[in-house]
Parts: sequence; structure tokens; C-alpha cells
Amino acid sequence: MDPLIQRWYDLINIRSVNGRELEIAEHIAGLIRGFGLTPHFSRFDEDVEGVRPSVWTELDSGRPGKTMLLIGHIDTVDVTLENWKTNPFRATEIDGKVYGRGAMDMKGGLACLLSTLEYFAAHPERFSGKILAAFVSDEEGLSRGTYALCDEGVLKADYAVMAECRFTNAAIGFRGRYSFEVTVRGESAHASRYPRRGENALISAGKLAVAIEALPTKTHPKLVGGTWCVRYMSGGNPDTLVVPDSCYVFVDRYVVPGETSEDCIAQIRSAAADLGLADKVNVRLKPRKSPYMQSFAVPEDHELVTTLVDCYADVTGKALELAYDPSVCDSNIVAVTLGIPVVTFGPSGENLHGDNECGYPEEVLASFEIYKRMVERLLAP
Ligand SMILES: [Zn+2]
Repeated sequence: MDPLIQRWYDLINIRSVNGRELEIAEHIAGLIRGFGLTPHFSRFDEDVEGVRPSVWTELDSGRPGKTMLLIGHIDTVDVTLENWKTNPFRATEIDGKVYGRGAMDMKGGLACLLSTLEYFAAHPERFSGKILAAFVSDEEGLSRGTYALCDEGVLKADYAVMAECRFTNAAIGFRGRYSFEVTVRGESAHASRYPRRGENALISAGKLAVAIEALPTKTHPKLVGGTWCVRYMSGGNPDTLVVPDSCYVFVDRYVVPGETSEDCIAQIRSAAADLGLADKVNVRLKPRKSPYMQSFAVPEDHELVTTLVDCYADVTGKALELAYDPSVCDSNIVAVTLGIPVVTFGPSGENLHGDNECGYPEEVLASFEIYKRMVERLLAP
């Protein structure tokens, strides 16, 4: 078997469902040592037992130049065993497709990154500057692996390749996402006195919810626009004869470049003011431990993008489509928090996050070749 394909199989055969990343992290660290490099472990605060590390390493050509970051996540989503036709934790080839959890998302990409690192560790004369490689935990959770590496300040680079599973179209822009908590106050009274007495917070919140979903968003030529979604509401008490005096509204907001959380809060406040609820509404960004992911788009004529397009054409003979993704992923952190232009591209497959996930061996082989050529061109000595 091709050693790259074997590497992919080995990674699939390690169960690395989000929350149990230690074994695959140690496996990757062992490979990195085998390349003659030093693996570094990074841990996030909530991982008190230290069993969910990310692994990173640096390959220095010894010559000044730019730095390329190769990055991918080592965790997968969980499985519902009874729905699988093969053992999800054993790579199984059927009719040219390889089945297993992570076969698509994203152990083929990890194998390609590792083999790219191995290739340049063996051929340091073929590049200048540095190659950084990061294999991060918790992407399928709260991305705490990537955020911890941000806090450590070790990921500084000029270009990044996120080896996520999208082969026929590379993503160069992503929307961002915020969540807001809105509290609408009314006035309690005995229900028998309503509506002469009391002010029903549920009714006010309902009107506000409709107004929020009708709020405009900025637009982007490729990311189209943002969205508003009122995703949860609660208030009132069915067991007492009291007019509801408070209602909680949870609002999800996808954003395009140029839309900040402050803008969104101001929009919600102005919608409340238009309904005469200015002094009855509190709005805040829902607190969370890791920062929210903001939107970004790398220009289509950026050398990272054009190099990927050229290398893809050289290897596959086809034109690579450039895509803009409506959701968020760790690429948002790389681009926004770390400020590194990033392309999201790697071997793909079928049934992402679903039962009977599978990947395509030919895309694994091609992606490695494309990554190698990208490094050779962007870090040409
Ligand atoms: Zn993924």
C-alpha cells in the first residue's frame, strides 16, 4: 500500500472522537519525531487532566524566508454504531472508497499534512523560511485547541493551508457567527386584572422577535449576506395567575465581513426603540469562553489563492472552484485571530459527520502533491 494511504488508514484506526484526542496526538507526535523534528504539546485550560492536547512542530530551512502554516484538526464527531455498515474505527475500502469515522473529516487531510512535513524535513534544500504544522484538538467542539495555540503565540505565518475536506472547491471566505441574549421586561399583575393592569413581556418579545428577523444585514458579493435567527424564547409561568414580566430571547446571527457584534446589538436596540420598548430591553453578546468567530474573505488574486489554483490545475488538469462558506470553522480563527491568509482545501468524500462516512484515496494522493507544490512555490529558495 502507498505509505500515504497507509498513514491515512492508521489515523482512521485511532478512535479520536471529540473529547478523546490523546492517542492520536501521541501517534502524530511519534511520526513527527520520526521525521527528525520536535513535537510540542499544547493544552487548553479546561482540559485539567491533560488528555486533549494539540500537537505542533516547526521545520526551519535554516534560510530566511516566509512561513507556511499547515493546520488540521485531530478530533472527529461521534458515531451511532448501529447505523454503520462497517466498523467506523477501522478503515475499510469498498469499491474504491474508504469508510471510517474521520475518513473524510479530516484524517486524509492530516495524512497529507504529515507527509508534506516529512517530505520537506527530508529535503530542506527545497524551501526557504519555515513550515509550521499544527494538529489541533476540539475543532468539533469549541475550537479550544486552536484558541490555546493562539494564546501561546506560536502560530505566526504568512500563509496557511487548512486541510479540511473540500477538494473540488476551496473555501477562501467564511461567514462569522454571534449569539445574543435579549431580555424583554414587562410588568407583572394578577392575570384577572389583565390587560388593564400589567404588561405582557411575552407579547412584547414576540413583536421584537418578528422585528429582529426583519432587520437588514450587510452584504458581500460572494458571502451574500448575514442572517438573523431567533432560536429560543422562554418566559412566563403556566402554574400561576401572573402576567409574564420577563421574556428571554436567544438570537443567532451569521455575519459577513464588516459586521461587528456592536453593530448587531445596536440594530436590536433600534428595533426595540421602534416598538416603544427602548427602556424595557437588555441586549448582550452571549458570554462564552472562546471568542466568537468573525467573518473573512481572502482576495481571489492573493498569491496563496492563485498558487493553490495553479497547483490544483497542474496535478488534476482541472480548474479549482473558489467557494465561500456560509458557516464557520477553525479557518475563521486562523484568518481573523491570527491574521494569516488561509485557504481551506483537502481530500474530501461523502457523508460528512454522518453514518458511513467515507473518503476518496485518489483525492488524498492528489492533495499531498498539491500541498507539496504549494510549499515549493510559495517558499521557493
Ligand atoms: Zn473538519
